[in-house]
Amino acid sequence: MIVDDVRRLDEHDPLAAFASRFVEPGERDRVVAYLDGNSLGRPPLATRRRLLELVDEQWGGRLIRAWSEGWMELPTTIGDQLASAALGAVPGQTIIADSTTVCLYKALRAAVAMRPDRGEILTDRHNFPTDGYVVDGVAEQLGLTVRRIDSDPASGVTVEQVAAQLSSRTSAVLLSHVAYRSAFIADMAAITEITHDSGALVVWDLCHSVGCIPILLDDHDVDFAVGCTYKYLNAGPGAPAFLYIRAEHQDGFVPAVPGWMGHADPFAMQPTYSPGHGIRRALSGTPPITGLIGVQEGVGLVEEAGIDRIRAKAVALTELVTALVDDWLVPLGAGLGSPRDASVRGGHVTVTHPEAADISRRLIDEGVIIDYRPPDGIRIGLSPLTTSFTRTWAAMEVFRDVLAGER
Ligand SMILES: *Cc1c(COP(=O)(O)O)cnc(C)c1O
Repeated sequence: MIVDDVRRLDEHDPLAAFASRFVEPGERDRVVAYLDGNSLGRPPLATRRRLLELVDEQWGGRLIRAWSEGWMELPTTIGDQLASAALGAVPGQTIIADSTTVCLYKALRAAVAMRPDRGEILTDRHNFPTDGYVVDGVAEQLGLTVRRIDSDPASGVTVEQVAAQLSSRTSAVLLSHVAYRSAFIADMAAITEITHDSGALVVWDLCHSVGCIPILLDDHDVDFAVGCTYKYLNAGPGAPAFLYIRAEHQDGFVPAVPGWMGHADPFAMQPTYSPGHGIRRALSGTPPITGLIGVQEGVGLVEEAGIDRIRAKAVALTELVTALVDDWLVPLGAGLGSPRDASVRGGHVTVTHPEAADISRRLIDEGVIIDYRPPDGIRIGLSPLTTSFTRTWAAMEVFRDVLAGER
């Protein structure tokens, strides 16, 4: 591979024009390449315009009347838009609300409550920390036990590992679709199926897959799914998360956080709670309108680009980076901490090195924005809508020079 090949990849990239629809860092921000869109996506220009409009016109002009002029429906209308663009789900099953952590808690509490005669939650030891804390918290609060799969940190949870740990005691299985360390894609279809065969329910964390790889929640009979919007969906720092509850589970969904926004008639101001219809009962408090605007614009860009084209570009970008890791970085003492097979690799590539923390600092000093994940991982995020092949190449040159001690 030479730099001319990489230029050609950009020339033939059907998504190349999307990069110009995001805010560019300024000169003094000294960004050679932003390779952390899988942790915090970049701001769409449309979001800036919409937020100004929100303050000046809706909030500023319509004032409290705006709640009944569309704001109240945003958690479900944007949820439906996300479901269609990126989740493979029909309307009425997805809301935008809370944080991923809170949505995980709501989903897991509901799942275990639907299996009252079973006392064990199954999860992955190497899942994202907050997922593990939620599992431990729910187990402690309800007197359940937790079983953990020892997955390989350089790949992820396999169907065989899940099958070996499922039992008639398992009430719920909580796993990440794409592993945050390695980008390994778990087999959602097969794991969901064996979980159901054992009589348990599944909760999928989609934080590192939503907006990057196609997801088929309805086709795979997924029970619950949760994910964040500020990574590949570019919705903004702390933008609200989403929660998917399969239609057939909604009547049985007992909210762990019953609040007035999930009430059957919020403005009747009833003294006691009665759950609202359908997915709305999973809402708790007032919808975060500023954050929702960011979700709407981010989802709109994914819808326009098409999730299949986004996936194709993610494959091409991660193929380029894994080839350069092998050619340039492995001879300098680094390793590949992600799957070699693109069919089970999401949108980032992890490079391992014993001095990963120090190397990460030096890369960021050189304007190559990546992130460090202890103990030895440097994640190269390749968010398809905002990352070009030539910038990725330039960043990898810096990486090679830093490892060679030439910077
Ligand atoms: C980013 C991420 C989270 C983040 O949770 P928040 O509540 O939004 O802070 C949770 N789980 C996984 C797998 C993640 O990648």
